[in-house]
Amino acid sequence: MRCGTTRVRRGTIGVVNKAFCREPDATAPPRCPGCGVVGSAVTAATVAAHTATPEAVSEPAYFCGTEACGVAYYDLFERSIAVGEARDLFWPKDPQGSLCGCHGLTADDVDDAIDTGDLSAVRRVVQASARADAACGLRSCDGRPCAARVQRYFVRRRQEIGG
Ligand SMILES: [Zn+2]
Repeated sequence: MRCGTTRVRRGTIGVVNKAFCREPDATAPPRCPGCGVVGSAVTAATVAAHTATPEAVSEPAYFCGTEACGVAYYDLFERSIAVGEARDLFWPKDPQGSLCGCHGLTADDVDDAIDTGDLSAVRRVVQASARADAACGLRSCDGRPCAARVQRYFVRRRQEIGG
């Protein structure tokens, strides 16, 4: 993306510098204005379910999954909704959030499952969220089922904990 500033005339303020960005390739997914990582496309309904100010971004909107990034949603015009203005984000985007908002599974639950060897709770959530469910589109802040994320975390933690 090529960015810069252009001088525009604004009423009584006179000439101001206005930021502009040009998208050289419309098919390339836009990068998060906060961290530069490519986010995942979400619907307006998903954005609306996770913030009181969905109008702050326009479609197509994107979710930034970068843990340390303060941007939750953004659009092609680099407008964004901060993590602090969003709600019900999943862990680790929200350190207090659950790993799977749809079923309430937390990162601690997964750690416990690995510790105790009782995987029934994790298995139940992965199986349930692997089934296509419209609720995931609204409850999960990236609009996607939690199964893949839960599985990724489980595999990573099992290696770390050494289960
Ligand atoms: Zn970001």
